[in-house]
Amino acid sequence: MSNRRFQILFPAIFLTVLAGCGNNSPNHDAAAAKEASVPAAAHHTHWSYEGDTSPEHWAELDQLFTTCSTGSAQSPVNILHDKVKEDERLSPVKVEYSPSPVSIINNGHTIQVNISSKDNKLTVEGKTYLLQQFHFHLPSEHEVDGKHAEMELHLVHKSEDGSLAVLGVLIHSGSENTVLNKLWSALPAEESAEAIVVDGSFDPAGLLPADLHSFRYQGSLTTPPCTEGVQWIVLENPVTWSAEQIAKFAAIFPHDNRPVQPLGSREIGSDE
Ligand SMILES: [Zn+2]
Repeated sequence: MSNRRFQILFPAIFLTVLAGCGNNSPNHDAAAAKEASVPAAAHHTHWSYEGDTSPEHWAELDQLFTTCSTGSAQSPVNILHDKVKEDERLSPVKVEYSPSPVSIINNGHTIQVNISSKDNKLTVEGKTYLLQQFHFHLPSEHEVDGKHAEMELHLVHKSEDGSLAVLGVLIHSGSENTVLNKLWSALPAEESAEAIVVDGSFDPAGLLPADLHSFRYQGSLTTPPCTEGVQWIVLENPVTWSAEQIAKFAAIFPHDNRPVQPLGSREIGSDE
């Protein structure tokens, strides 16, 4: 077996454990615990953003997806500026990302970039999470004052105790993000079970705005099984991509966003 072959295989195996927004969510542990009483095939239940398998139907597709309709702390949500509670106890999140080996995959739901190194940290309220993968939605999943951004980036992190924190970055059309081109030149148009290793390294910090002030709330995965207990951090400041960069994603996934969910009794805080 050549080195190259190993490089392709390894992320594929890694993916079956970590493919975040897909059926094989980072909350695999929770799903695996339930799996004991459910046929293994349930893990491969098809879901989508269109027609009979669209978000309105997710909970009907598989008993593992019930939370998608019965949950009370679901994501995404509409962030209303007037209702956000400035919380002096919240300090800005700390992001420590560095150039890392990555692989990229079209998992049928989005374009996902997997990170196998443990060098990318997010610290929220004194708790440290490691970056597992990041992926994209079009249009944005979160709304701000009832409006979608053109796209949204989700950076999915996991702590040592298995809990998840997702950093959301809204993407507006504007200046090109040249850092992105390294990934976008390897954009896989077709769904595949194998991730493609991106040459060299990629620094996820290049996808973030300089100002990391954020909205915070407790929510869920925005894809089946819609598991709750996810710490959400949505950055207040968007980044820009060129219309061409956005169009390149839209040509593969014309829309892959779950509609906003009721906020209920939850509060959205901000760290200002
Ligand atoms: Zn997502």
